[in-house]
Amino acid sequence: MTRAEKATDNVLIIGSGIGGLTVGIIFAKLHHRVTVVEKNPLPGGLMRSYVRSGIDCPLGVHYMGSLDRGQPLRRLWDYLGVTSSLPLERMGMNGVIDRYLFDDFSFDLHEGIDAFEDDLKQAFPREQNQIAELMGDMRTISQSLFSLDLLTEPGMPFLSSESLDSMGGRLQRMRCSIPLLSVLGVPSTLIGVPLRDCPAFYYYMTLASYLLSSWRLACSGSHMSDAFTSTFGSLGGAIVTGDGVKKILVRSGRVSGVVLQSGRVLDAAVVIAAIHPRCVVALLPEGAVRPAYAERIAELENTKGLFSVTLAVDADAHEALPYNIYRVYPERDGTLSHGIFHQLRRSGQPGINILSMMTTSGIEEWRQWEQTTSGRRGGDYVAAKEKKAREFIAEASTVFGNLKGMKILDIYTPLTIRDRVGSPDGSAYGILRSTRQLMKTASLNRTSIEGLFLAGQNSMAPGIMGTTLGSFQTVKRIIGHERFCREVMEDFR
Ligand SMILES: Cc1cc2nc3c(=O)[nH]c(=O)nc-3n(C[C@H](O)[C@H](O)[C@H](O)COP(=O)(O)OP(=O)(O)OC[C@H]3O[C@@H](n4cnc5c(N)ncnc54)[C@H](O)[C@@H]3O)c2cc1C
Repeated sequence: MTRAEKATDNVLIIGSGIGGLTVGIIFAKLHHRVTVVEKNPLPGGLMRSYVRSGIDCPLGVHYMGSLDRGQPLRRLWDYLGVTSSLPLERMGMNGVIDRYLFDDFSFDLHEGIDAFEDDLKQAFPREQNQIAELMGDMRTISQSLFSLDLLTEPGMPFLSSESLDSMGGRLQRMRCSIPLLSVLGVPSTLIGVPLRDCPAFYYYMTLASYLLSSWRLACSGSHMSDAFTSTFGSLGGAIVTGDGVKKILVRSGRVSGVVLQSGRVLDAAVVIAAIHPRCVVALLPEGAVRPAYAERIAELENTKGLFSVTLAVDADAHEALPYNIYRVYPERDGTLSHGIFHQLRRSGQPGINILSMMTTSGIEEWRQWEQTTSGRRGGDYVAAKEKKAREFIAEASTVFGNLKGMKILDIYTPLTIRDRVGSPDGSAYGILRSTRQLMKTASLNRTSIEGLFLAGQNSMAPGIMGTTLGSFQTVKRIIGHERFCREVMEDFR
């Protein structure tokens, strides 16, 4: 081992979401001493579901892409050693992964890039040229994603000025019709970026990862967090829970450890913060980073939060669906300002299925209760949540008919997510990866403090796929390209 390699001997990770645990497992596999610190009593971050009326409700994982054998997320998870512990269920058993319902038409998204092209050409027969051009770009980026050359190549292999361009701008220049724009706008909601601001490569990567194959957990529960934590533990990794990091210690421009809320001090040569960078800056001693860096982080725009309603429904009347339904309400110019995601799945309890519904919701809507904490927000907050939930239920009835045996299991707002995982303003997908912020976000995981790195959804891209890829990238940055290819990517062959 060289001196630089030895410096990473003692690795401390802040946050036990999929980002933190992915980095933790990789370093544990590379024989480092790794400790993950989690503020909550249980590890898992957004991966962990929660129980209401005896039923597990999913929080931050409804579906994921590219988990078939040989596909990118599956290869990454096989390397981590978590796949076999996960009860995965392939979506689209009848061919459909997602159904988009508009006022006057519907569009079914089938598995596979060829199928998607056929669906588009059939629905928009006058726009064959535009669709062919789009699919050409999508295939190039999907190929790059598939081969994981993002990790094996030194830079970002598929980045060109065109792929950095806004997807909305590209589609407008191609003179796509408003209905086609509306259909193509739905996938960008998966990373919380409006189509007009969404860099083309993000768009293609996100959509391609779901088209390759879409999956969800066959039953909700803590399977995903358990799979990651037990694999990490079996490799010798340690997790401290219920004791968040209060301070990151920095001596002479170099990180030296952390202080926990309890006052306990943990030494570490490398600290990887798998939390929002704004929270990282708040944990640093005064003057540890240049004011310009702190200002840049504070000014970054975040993705919005989500409002969610989870219902229990009668399983005989409402059979689980192997696809998601997006009820979409585009503006006159095709912009998607409002839409509701629905997923109807088994609950694990006999006779009961669960219907999860979600929509984008900014903190402004909940500002009045900003100073309150979960469980103590008062009756007016509960009333506001319930009022909005009733509107959702009325809309859901237009999609699923009269909801038999319906019972509200839970309603959450961006404030819930903020308090659960510490995401600023309850942002669902962290920093907004828009064309406007591309330059400002490009080198976020390189801090000026030696030994301090970022991982998790804010380091590269959000979602289970983006967070996992970003966490592998962080390891590459820390141990260097050569060692990463030799000791990590070698196992992929
Ligand atoms: C409602 C919702 C639905 C979603 N649905 C999907 C989906 O269907 N598919 C998909 O691919 N993606 C989905 N996402 C996005 C996906 O869940 C995230 O991109 C991903 O889980 C982020 O992982 P992470 O590790 O970066 O962050 P997190 O899971 O948020 O983990 C961060 C952890 O750090 C801890 N922490 C914070 N501060 C401290 C501190 N000071 N000390 C110690 N610990 C700390 C937090 O408690 C938390 O456990 C969804 C997100 C939301 C909010």
